Amino acid sequence: MPGHNMRAEIIAVGSELLTPDHCDTNSLLITERLNQAGFAVHLKSVVGDRSDDIAALVRAALRRSDFVVICGGLGPTEDDLTRRAVAGALGRQLSVNAPLLEQLRVLFARRGYPMRPINERQAEVIEGAEVLENAVGTAPGLWLQEGGVQIVLLPGPPRELSPMMENHVLPRALKLGAGRHLVKQSFRVLGMTESEVDSRIAPIYTQYPQVDTTILASRGYIGIRLHQWAGAWEQTGAIEDLACRIERALGSAIFTRTDDSLEEVVGRLLRQSGRTLAVAESCTAGMIGCAITRIPGSSDYFLGGILCYSDDIKERLCGVPGNLLCKHGAVSAEVAEALAEGVRLATGSSTGLSVTGIAGPGGGSPEKPVGLVYVGLADGSRVVNRRRVLPGDRALIRERASYAALAFLYQHIIAARNAGQP
Ligand code: ATP
Repeated sequence: MPGHNMRAEIIAVGSELLTPDHCDTNSLLITERLNQAGFAVHLKSVVGDRSDDIAALVRAALRRSDFVVICGGLGPTEDDLTRRAVAGALGRQLSVNAPLLEQLRVLFARRGYPMRPINERQAEVIEGAEVLENAVGTAPGLWLQEGGVQIVLLPGPPRELSPMMENHVLPRALKLGAGRHLVKQSFRVLGMTESEVDSRIAPIYTQYPQVDTTILASRGYIGIRLHQWAGAWEQTGAIEDLACRIERALGSAIFTRTDDSLEEVVGRLLRQSGRTLAVAESCTAGMIGCAITRIPGSSDYFLGGILCYSDDIKERLCGVPGNLLCKHGAVSAEVAEALAEGVRLATGSSTGLSVTGIAGPGGGSPEKPVGLVYVGLADGSRVVNRRRVLPGDRALIRERASYAALAFLYQHIIAARNAGQP
């Protein structure tokens, strides 16, 4: 059915998922697999362990969806009501399946646990359902059809649900999806706000109503996501066309067309340009070095760094002149530049990157508020700095300061490359 999205719905059952302590994560994995098979998830619900509520959701799902995945509440205890509630909603019988009961007995015996009468509930099967084996736990899944709607019941524990999605649900869903698939393209953008990105690209993406475009602010960058559903043999030229036009409009503000992190992209650029990097980190105290060295092979371009938290270390190890610290203060453009140049000289790297700032909560003043951060960069021919006032609490300011430094480095390397330098 070209052009028609098959609608999937997920119902996560469990009263604990309605407390502040637990969160429904199963639906993320279920969505990923359903998308892969050609189904768009149009609704998710989280419901407590109440039979009436579960049954009402199932009845509503039958009216509005082609595929319904219900997870959780298949265990043996009193509060595991999913099987019974679904049977009730469909007006079907629930009865103990003899071969399944036998399998459960064998499983319990093998594990050395006594099998209690309540465990027998897990051998109950809804009339007409196919049993899906659970290789990891005791609660099997069930697959049913009702008036053309596919209904799948899966256990709640993610380590049980995940292989069952993979081995039982995905292969069957792929057949039902008949080659329908989701084509995706994403971009990550630096140096622009969400509204700047939107005002730049809205005139373009609004010309492509068949592509679902979303702009999302993430930590350190703005993400753009393009989604287009297509039948097995349908052309997806629109998304490619739109992607090209967005790339032209945003240029090198886009640091990746995949889900690569900024440190990965910066690492690649450093390697390609044959540069080496060292960092002098005051308020981030190692966070930039940590991010850079998360990438395997970073020793090719990263030499090391100095955690120059105190003025004394800034002076003694990074060579910042004492009078500069006295005159401008540790959080200043002058000191940021001196730190970058100092660490470059101290380590022999080709590029030095520094951060100095006020992460708070104390230490701010009207001239130098909490969140004020200077990033310095020295590349052997120039020393430059960038000033930012970053919002958030201490943890967020430090994280944003690390991103700001990496972003500055990225933009510096790109600008040098565009100017024909290595
Ligand atoms: P069991 O046989 O283990 O009782 P079950 O199907 O009854 O299986 P639940 O009792 O509902 O599963 O949940 C078991 C565990 O799985 C709990 O720790 C619960 O927090 C977790 N869980 C349940 N549903 C979800 C969900 N949607 N996302 C993430 N974790 C979940």
